[in-house]
Amino acid sequence: MGGQKTAILSVYDKTGLLDLAKGLHDRGVRLLASGGTAKMIRQAGFPVDDVSAITKAPEMLGGRVKTLHPAVHGGILARNLDSDDSDLSANSIDKIDFVVCNLYPFSDTVARINVTIPEAVEEIDIGGVTLLRAAAKNHARVTIISDPKDYHDFLTELKDGEISEKSRQTYALKAFEQTAAYDSAISDFFRKKYSGEGQQQLPLRYGANPHQKPATVFMQQSQLPFKVLCGSPGYINLLDALNAWPLVQELSKELNAPAAASFKHVSPAGAAIGVPLSEDERKVYMVDDIEGIESSGLAQAYARARGADRMSSFGDMVALSHEVDVPTAKIISREVSDGVIAPKYTPEALEILKKKKGGKYLVLQMDPDYVPSVEETRTVFGISLRQHRNDAKISPADTFNTIIVPKNSSPLPESATRDLTVATIALKYTQSNSVCYALNGQLIGLGAGQQSRIHCTRLAGDKADNWWMRFHPRTLSLTWKKGTKRPSKSNAIDLLTSGLVPSEGIERDDFEANFEEGKVPEVFTPEERKEWLEKLQGVAVSSDAFFPFIDNVFRAARSGAKYVAAPTGSQNDGAVFETAEKLGITFVEQHVRLFHH
Ligand code: 5GP
Repeated sequence: MGGQKTAILSVYDKTGLLDLAKGLHDRGVRLLASGGTAKMIRQAGFPVDDVSAITKAPEMLGGRVKTLHPAVHGGILARNLDSDDSDLSANSIDKIDFVVCNLYPFSDTVARINVTIPEAVEEIDIGGVTLLRAAAKNHARVTIISDPKDYHDFLTELKDGEISEKSRQTYALKAFEQTAAYDSAISDFFRKKYSGEGQQQLPLRYGANPHQKPATVFMQQSQLPFKVLCGSPGYINLLDALNAWPLVQELSKELNAPAAASFKHVSPAGAAIGVPLSEDERKVYMVDDIEGIESSGLAQAYARARGADRMSSFGDMVALSHEVDVPTAKIISREVSDGVIAPKYTPEALEILKKKKGGKYLVLQMDPDYVPSVEETRTVFGISLRQHRNDAKISPADTFNTIIVPKNSSPLPESATRDLTVATIALKYTQSNSVCYALNGQLIGLGAGQQSRIHCTRLAGDKADNWWMRFHPRTLSLTWKKGTKRPSKSNAIDLLTSGLVPSEGIERDDFEANFEEGKVPEVFTPEERKEWLEKLQGVAVSSDAFFPFIDNVFRAARSGAKYVAAPTGSQNDGAVFETAEKLGITFVEQHVRLFHH
């Protein structure tokens, strides 16, 4: 045709509309517009036809149907093809070259307090979205202008002739983004109204802090994969639960045993599989009176996970890989804890948990078959980041086969692969940087969220030492004052085992107040510590990324490290391997870096 170009205008936000109409008119473009848009242009004295001039149908249903018509959409969607041209001429439809459209303000309307569903429904733009999508789809030929801020550049380009392909692409993308955001605002609104609390969405009390309101958890295309059986989850509870759950699920699957984790601030304080407990372990983990623990792998796993660092586990979020039984529920019931996530609960175990915290203990039931999508997106400072989920598989059979030193080493003993698996899967769900020490199927020290690797290695090593000092005969035979609470015991033990008990002052008095008169324990001398710590042996250490310096190996060795697994790639790899060899450590290359944030 090559003759006069046609623009169709249908805008809610009429900012800049008259300048645009004038510009288009000056460039010889024919203007078509929907009701209100046409009225404003006409009143300003520019020639404009109503859309009904081409549809031969009036606007109807109180404005619900304005531009929805083949004369409009045929004109927009037609390509420069003979078959399309003949379809158009058979139906007396002219091609449309430019579409200018912006939508009813759905988000503004639903942001109003007490907005009703009918009010919101009326703000769902149908024809406008169709105009945007149709024109954006056919951007090979049509220009879609969806933002008044673009009028100026569009007119400038038009003055010089054609709208370039590049510009049409940019405008089309903008229109697609707009319809996507618009649809997402609509589904957000109706998800809240129609999906029912706990189905596809759940309002949360607040976000990371009490002033961060509102807060919510939701799924866009399916039901939430967990049910709330008791209590109401907070934002951080869910961050913990949704990191702790895959950790125990993977651990249990890879090691074929029940697994447990005790999370605090989105990192594990403890994680373990069910391995029978020695008498000393039962004492140290404060579970010596739990009936049935010897036959419950899950209870053993949680006793170990909670026992690893009792002080840090105060107020934890628990994850359990298997159906929760009575012994496990009993351990949880007397600890200070925020909540638990597990695939199932026996009715008796659930009853025990539901009584906790005056009936407010958080109990989540996770769908064990839930598989997250491979891509994950988050927003930070208003900016979206998307990545492939970290679905790297850590398995005892495949991950720890590359022994670097000692050369010609025989394969690792099963206990070492088990402990490296526990440590490495724990790191996969620990805030980086991170280093983890493990023994007996459980984590014994974990350094999380440090900016330098050596600080992780030291922190984890100090925690492992601390853990081991709790097995010292003196710690095992402490005589508590009657009525001393479990958290106070854990705090006093931590002070004692970390060598931080002061010799005088009110902090000393506070420490002494936990013990029977005349039974305040002697602090450990440096010699006693050294002698006891030398007995800690066979420890497995894993790191979420390579060791940049040999100091890490030195520090790990001091806490009984016998097996170390880490990615390689440091300039200092050679020195790291050599140091490990000198210290009698087996160094295993773990091929996958496991940063987690
Ligand atoms: P006007 O002020 O021109 O009467 O209406 C402009 C608004 O109507 C624009 O926001 C546009 O997205 C929307 N619109 C265009 N065509 C239709 C239609 O067929 N139905 C509905 N409900 N809205 C439309």
